Amino acid sequence: MTAFALPRSVDVINPRQWETFATYFKELAERPLTRENLRQWLTDWSDLTRLFFEAASLIYIEKSQDTADADKEQAFLDLINDVYPQAQVAIQGLKERLLAVDPASEALADLSLVLRNMQNEASLFRQENIPLFTQAAKLENEYDKVTGTLKADWAGEEKNLSQLGFFLNNNDRSVRQKAWQTISDLWLSQRETLNGIYANLLTLRQQIAHNAGLANYRAYAFREKGRFDYTPDDCLTFHAAIETAVVPAIQRILKRKQKRLGYDTLRPWDWVPEKGTLVDDSGGEPLRPYQGQDALVQHTLNIFNQIDPQLARYFATMAEDELLDLDTRAGKALGGYCSSLPMRMRPFIFMNGVGSHDDVQTMLHEAGHAFHVFETAELPLIWQTEPPMEFCEVASMSMELLAAPYLTDQNGGFYTSPQAAHARIEHLENILAFLPYMAVVDAFQHWVYTHPQQAANASQCDAVWQSLYERFLPGVDWTAHEDSLKTGWHRKLHIFTSPFYYIEYGMAQVGALQVWRNSLQNPVKALQSYRQALSLGGTKTLPDLFAAAGAEFRFDTEMLSGLVALIEQKTAELRKTSLS
Ligand SMILES: [Zn+2]
Repeated sequence: MTAFALPRSVDVINPRQWETFATYFKELAERPLTRENLRQWLTDWSDLTRLFFEAASLIYIEKSQDTADADKEQAFLDLINDVYPQAQVAIQGLKERLLAVDPASEALADLSLVLRNMQNEASLFRQENIPLFTQAAKLENEYDKVTGTLKADWAGEEKNLSQLGFFLNNNDRSVRQKAWQTISDLWLSQRETLNGIYANLLTLRQQIAHNAGLANYRAYAFREKGRFDYTPDDCLTFHAAIETAVVPAIQRILKRKQKRLGYDTLRPWDWVPEKGTLVDDSGGEPLRPYQGQDALVQHTLNIFNQIDPQLARYFATMAEDELLDLDTRAGKALGGYCSSLPMRMRPFIFMNGVGSHDDVQTMLHEAGHAFHVFETAELPLIWQTEPPMEFCEVASMSMELLAAPYLTDQNGGFYTSPQAAHARIEHLENILAFLPYMAVVDAFQHWVYTHPQQAANASQCDAVWQSLYERFLPGVDWTAHEDSLKTGWHRKLHIFTSPFYYIEYGMAQVGALQVWRNSLQNPVKALQSYRQALSLGGTKTLPDLFAAAGAEFRFDTEMLSGLVALIEQKTAELRKTSLS
């Protein structure tokens, strides 16, 4: 078949119209399929998927770079309203064609996981869910818009939530309190709106699950996320292990901080788990590691050169090819992400950097994702390059830890030795502090989607969030800020826009800590296993990917206690070199 000549670049197509892709999908739907041409057919489909997702990625990236640009938003809306729904139907047709082929076929021998995933997706597909996905995507976009446009006056300048969040790291408690109060007021000003968006999302998600023949959206989400290697009960076991092994360690950290700072109690502006800011008790100035994108790129490149020259080359390629947008500006969407451009097999990193240590951490994190894209570039079919999310975050979180020894200026990094030691202590303590917060976010959603009637009432969501918060994150005095405590779930984007996508971070952190533990024993071997595991993409199961990286896929108390002990030992060592 010579009919299948795809455009060589997304620059020459109009991705906002379904017609752009329709002819190619039609050809694939109609091409007679034999054992002999099966592989070619799959390759063509994979290449079409690359074109499609590259176009979609670019539309998403451009929208997030300028949320005020109506045309960019319209391109995104065209994509989700018109192109995606029709693509989903066409893709389902191709999956059914593929699955109808003898799965024992020679041509598919190396694709067992790809087939398993497609089988799972195809069996979950319901035509009647397509308009519901579109409605949900619009509501999710609404959440982004509401939160992305929140601004307040700060010392005569208008600042968005990201920019205000920078002051949560301030060592002056009154500045922190003022920033926290400003942020809190902005969120509470949208309380009814956000409750409304969530209630509508809940109804839609419940309906989506029912249409797919499942009892609730939790069951649906586990299937939809391809969670073959763990169950809802395993998540609850993980939460309980965190409660046993991690929560007491956090209490030790909080007590020490409180004592050193001479505070009677810790207040909400001393620890903001959703922002990963835990008050600094070192007495030093807050770290200001860099100013502007160029400096961030240069120091980060130096660090990667110390870890592995090949990783440094990957990163340099991103800088040369303008695949980095790192500084914050008015109108940019919140947060940071690494997106992939699967046609040119390159990653793209988006951030809202303001020059803080958090931004350095985000840079290293997203670079870990970017390395995953580079390492899988040789895998022939796009589906083979898609690792499970739990392992994607092992790639990124491990990179934060593997880079830590090179943060010092002797290594071309950002800090003096005491500053670097201080930054590493904060990083390790924040890893611990994240786990119970993760448990709250995850446990909250387990409750929501198994109690849809109660959860339709926002005040019940508030109550459940509060009780989980008190169970996993005790030690902070919320007096006079109860509304902010209860509505903490509003401030977690994932709860709105990526339901159930959060435990992945906890699992991955446990994997990444094991990669780091290995690197303390044998850095060369640990890095080799890390890169090897990344290069497997999605061709192995989650436990196998963990094993390839030198880690165990296990989330019990014993595993967590071992990692907590290592962190406590390492932070005690680092404290000897840090500012204090
Ligand atoms: Zn990530």
